[in-house]
Amino acid sequence: MTDARRSAVAGASHVFYRKLHRALPRIVRGEGVWLYDDRGKRYLDGSGGAMVVNAGHGVPEIADAVGAQAKALAYVNGTIFTNGPVEALADLLAAKTPPGIDRAYFLSSGSEAVEAALKLARQYHVERGESSRRAIIARTPGYHGNTMLALSASAREHYKKFYGPWLLDVVMIGAPYPYRSGPLGAISPEMTGDALESAIQKAGPESVAAFIAEPIGGSSTGASVPPPEYYGRIREICDRHGVLFIADEVLTGAGRTGKFFALEHFRMPDGSAVVPDIITMGKGLNGGYAPLSAMLTKSTIVETIAQGSGNFQHAQTYSHNPLGAAAALATMRYLDKHRLVERARTMGAVLQTKLRDAVLQGPGADIVGDVRGIGMLAAVEFVADLQTKRAFPRANKVAEMLVDKALERGLVVWPNVGHADGVDGDLAMIAPPFTISEDEIDTLASSLSSAIGDVAHALST
Ligand code: PLP
Repeated sequence: MTDARRSAVAGASHVFYRKLHRALPRIVRGEGVWLYDDRGKRYLDGSGGAMVVNAGHGVPEIADAVGAQAKALAYVNGTIFTNGPVEALADLLAAKTPPGIDRAYFLSSGSEAVEAALKLARQYHVERGESSRRAIIARTPGYHGNTMLALSASAREHYKKFYGPWLLDVVMIGAPYPYRSGPLGAISPEMTGDALESAIQKAGPESVAAFIAEPIGGSSTGASVPPPEYYGRIREICDRHGVLFIADEVLTGAGRTGKFFALEHFRMPDGSAVVPDIITMGKGLNGGYAPLSAMLTKSTIVETIAQGSGNFQHAQTYSHNPLGAAAALATMRYLDKHRLVERARTMGAVLQTKLRDAVLQGPGADIVGDVRGIGMLAAVEFVADLQTKRAFPRANKVAEMLVDKALERGLVVWPNVGHADGVDGDLAMIAPPFTISEDEIDTLASSLSSAIGDVAHALST
């Protein structure tokens, strides 16, 4: 280790930071889309942290609800007692889910919800006498979390680097990624669902437990939207082979794409809703006010377990906790009261247009391969060559450089890397609170465009 590196680690703080070579501004206050640090600098939170903050920072009525719950009852164990916020939140979610999905299991993080969803799929099959079903099919690019099972199902190689020997084999198929798979409607297997059919056939249908997918790409494919008929086909394939379909809405759920669930953008061939077997939520479910995630499923699945072992074997101390549930309940009620999911759709369209215009006409346009998205979820994909879509070598750290340049200009964006080929690929994710005003969108778009110009300039010198 060099001296410079050693001194970065041995700094004044006792916190073990995730990034060990960065000086982190200390944020003391948040209001709406703005964050304020202890030196008085303000930042426009253009990505709602990690695509979490949807109702905005510092909303008094949500904060008051969390405070009141902490005063009344902060914790009871979910195997001994139930509590008001958990019951009310499960009712509220059951009214928003597709038909048949009416049970909610609450945890703390998105990874935990995914872990629970995959374990539920396995337990369900075993309890109904199909213990041969153990294979999981997931997609690349794709991301489902950082605990070992969720990470196994994620195509994020740099996150897996040290843990390979502990990870499970998961069957990977290509994710729909229009920018890199060809134009919408192109007959490539990852765009049509044929890739799933082939993978199930190859694994042997009786061995497959579950297929997990992000309905609209989060940071993994950078807000890529599959063709409209894709999930109807996925549902039909899963049904035909007895495979459970898990929709991972940790990032897209709670309105981020302009509908409460991203899967609502898709229909079955007869026009009815696409109903997955399990939905996971996190991030926007609690709006950032206290950790809470959920795994939502069908009572028919829960009934199979009730009639079998009688226990879902996924014990976690903070499952079904009243404080997190109160935060989520207050956030969901706030979204409903102020029609913020509708706003994510309408103002989201404004965001997409202004971003595209500013970035594609801005000073760094020659490194921008694509600007895309839906609702309040957008991504800018950077490429070294606009014609061939060749990504920058990872060593250039373009996404990381962009985040730094944007931060200097008072804008928070979220980076992602590796989507082009598992190693290279640079994305900036934009996902502001749904309350963002048109003026604030202008500020976001022009700061982002300028920051991209800074990066293009740095790369050319
Ligand atoms: N699933 C998806 C689609 C995600 O985007 C994420 C996080 O980014 C997760 C799961 C994991 O959630 P968490 O980081 O809260 O564990």
